[in-house]
Amino acid sequence: MNQTTNPTSHRMFIGAEWVATEQTLPVVDPATGAVVGAIPRGGAAEIDAAVRAGRAALAGAWGAVDATSRGRLLLRLAELIRRDADILARIESADVGKPLGQARGDAAAFARYFEYYGGAADKVHGETIPFLQGYTVMTVYEPIGVTGHIIPWNYPMQIMGRSVAASLAMGNAVVLKPAEDTSLSALHLARLAEEAGFPAGAFNVVTGLGEEAGAALAGHPGIGHVSFTGSPEVGALVQAAAGRNSVPVTLELGGKSPQVVFADAPMEEAAATITRGISQNSGQTCSAGSRVLIEDRVYDSFTQDLAARFRALRVGTPDQELDCGPVVNAAQQQRIQRYLDMARRDGLPVLAEGSLAGNVPPGGYYVKPVLIGDVPAEHPLAQEEIFGPVLVAIRVRDEADALRVANATSYGLVAGVWTADIARALRLARGISAGQVFINNFGAAGGIELPFGGTRRSGHGREKGFEALYGFATLKTIAIKHGV
Ligand code: NAD
Repeated sequence: MNQTTNPTSHRMFIGAEWVATEQTLPVVDPATGAVVGAIPRGGAAEIDAAVRAGRAALAGAWGAVDATSRGRLLLRLAELIRRDADILARIESADVGKPLGQARGDAAAFARYFEYYGGAADKVHGETIPFLQGYTVMTVYEPIGVTGHIIPWNYPMQIMGRSVAASLAMGNAVVLKPAEDTSLSALHLARLAEEAGFPAGAFNVVTGLGEEAGAALAGHPGIGHVSFTGSPEVGALVQAAAGRNSVPVTLELGGKSPQVVFADAPMEEAAATITRGISQNSGQTCSAGSRVLIEDRVYDSFTQDLAARFRALRVGTPDQELDCGPVVNAAQQQRIQRYLDMARRDGLPVLAEGSLAGNVPPGGYYVKPVLIGDVPAEHPLAQEEIFGPVLVAIRVRDEADALRVANATSYGLVAGVWTADIARALRLARGISAGQVFINNFGAAGGIELPFGGTRRSGHGREKGFEALYGFATLKTIAIKHGV
């Protein structure tokens, strides 16, 4: 990345200080490709300072806050997020390139995470365990210490909301490293955390490159846990770096999630939901249903319905509020184009594509949504995560074939099953390897209350829902011998 001296320069938040660095990274507007600002290029020294600030907070003011008061602080932060929802939505929309309406939804979910986990902060109970005569044994959940959070660029508010709120609720101190392309909502969250009254060091944000600040955080011996959301390749690096210090990790990685459609499905609802799932955020959604597996006898009619919907999809600038905005950066645009070139080279039929608004700026990273038909289950387009608005349609003969194809990738994040036969739906829900299965619906982005995470190459550990709280705590067993 180039250095920039653009005056719209941001600072990061370490301890109680707003910190600048000599070197900076550019903030690029995906709608135009223009540099519109700069963020600090934090590295190992800044990560170390943030981890120290977190440890000092735990040994001091933050460690002394009881669970109910922690919850109140999170609820206060939720109120401030709601107050600034419009500002946050505009920041995120411009930074990621997503249509403003979609960013407004993200801002609402962001507040909701702090509400949900604020309410839960004093409700995580241990147990008493029947044991030998003359003993009382109990378990207690304690904070782990300083937790590291490395997040991607596609849903910054939602992803930092789910992991940061759960960790703070359990009494940990947080060091957050947002993605270098989209750090601005994290910096705004730091301002709000300061205003809400979190003690110094409880919440820290270090901006910077993945291979510098991110790697320094994952490998820091002073942290107790890493929550990583991003690609499987970087997830493996993060797990190895944390493993050298025996630090546990939660990995929320990619997906190639199947949408399975049988002849008895509610067809219109299925087609509308599947189209929305892959076009939302221009397909840059880890849980997007990016493969549609269609029972052979309705393949033609269902793909015709999907094709009509794809032709109606429109792409424009974020504030035009069409179906899709630009993708996040030039590398992502090129990655999607490589898969489309591969489809053409291999003779896969393009069944439909969306259209580009006439007046989009020439330097922006725009990609038209594409529906590709008759993709063999083993083809790279049916196996690899494209992370763009590209839906691949695959024919399946029957239930057994659908189950085989659904499980025939290395991923296991989410699945959708569309059928009126509930017994069949439940057989598939049990048989499909995934962290979440939706029957006759598909909750691609929502579901704050629903535990979420992957199997296989989609990662391990669970975030969202009450379950996440246990991942951000350490369980201690206390055995007391008091006699009878
Ligand atoms: P990425 O893995 O390139 O980057 C994610 C984060 O890791 C960024 O903050 C980056 O700076 C950091 N990073 C990069 N190199 C690092 C290193 N060596 N050490 C430590 N940190 C490093 O992913 P991306 O391109 O930002 O996001 C796209 C990927 O994320 C897709 O695969 C997508 O499916 C996945 N994703 C998963 C979920 C989920 O919840 N399962 C959610 C969103 C995105």
